[in-house]
Amino acid sequence: MNSNPPRNDSLLEVINLQVHFPVKSPFLRRTLEVVKAVDTVNFAIPKGKIIGLVGESGSGKTTLGRALIRLAPITAGIIRYEGQEIQLLNHRLFFPFRKKIQMVFQDPYNSLNPRLSIQKIVEEPLKIHFPALKKIHREDRVIALLEKVGLEADHRKRYPHQFSGGQRQRIGIARALAVEPDFIICDEAVSALDVSIQAQIVNLLQDLQEEKKLTYLFISHDLAVVEHISDYLLVMNKGKIVEQGDCEKIYRSPQDPYTQKLFDAIPIL
Ligand code: ADP
Ligand code: MG
Repeated sequence: MNSNPPRNDSLLEVINLQVHFPVKSPFLRRTLEVVKAVDTVNFAIPKGKIIGLVGESGSGKTTLGRALIRLAPITAGIIRYEGQEIQLLNHRLFFPFRKKIQMVFQDPYNSLNPRLSIQKIVEEPLKIHFPALKKIHREDRVIALLEKVGLEADHRKRYPHQFSGGQRQRIGIARALAVEPDFIICDEAVSALDVSIQAQIVNLLQDLQEEKKLTYLFISHDLAVVEHISDYLLVMNKGKIVEQGDCEKIYRSPQDPYTQKLFDAIPIL
């Protein structure tokens, strides 16, 4: 087993990570070109911090986030979680990491199964990762989770269409928290919401992070939201990390020309 002790306070280390998608001709078998969605990326995520990942649409943010939980195919590189390489683990060995790392998705209207009650949606990861938990205890756990994210116990009997966008995102957060993860990837988690609702969800995520000492990768194309929440920043352009470091420092004086251009485009309030 390749489990070296972590070299520093990093929860996650990414070394020369590449995710390439071959684009095939529909008629010929040959590959026409390769989209380098993630192109030789290096960074580390310290425990208990919020890391913002910014960049224009198509820069590779979602693919990078998905690669960390192996939802995107890894072409090359190393991903270390608490010092252990996880990029090549088989399904069985990767299973415990699926519990530690959870994801909150962008679209609260499509990420919840419309046919399932909120109880079923939130308890699904519990059934997978805590199969011995009795039904009654699962129900208690779902009630506690709903209350934790600002919803009510009775909401568990309802269905997704009975909730607003902000409430649905709270349900998505409850589902992510169900298995007590250490690390949460929020991919455009507030981007689809109205500005006033965005602030509520960002505040909720911040409160939960502090209380549970969580680590976040907070992906967003919205620089104002990222600046508000992040300790560290990764700036992505065309599959590469072009700048990274202390969030405040980068916002104050971006060094990379791409970052400068990106920040120049923020409207001044
Ligand atoms: P972002 O989240 O920053 O908008 P994405 O990670 O979604 O960027 O996309 C990065 C690039 O990878 C885009 O050019 C996109 O078209 C391409 N891409 C993403 N997923 C796939 C896929 N499954 N197959 C082929 N190309 C993909
Ligand atoms: Mg994306």
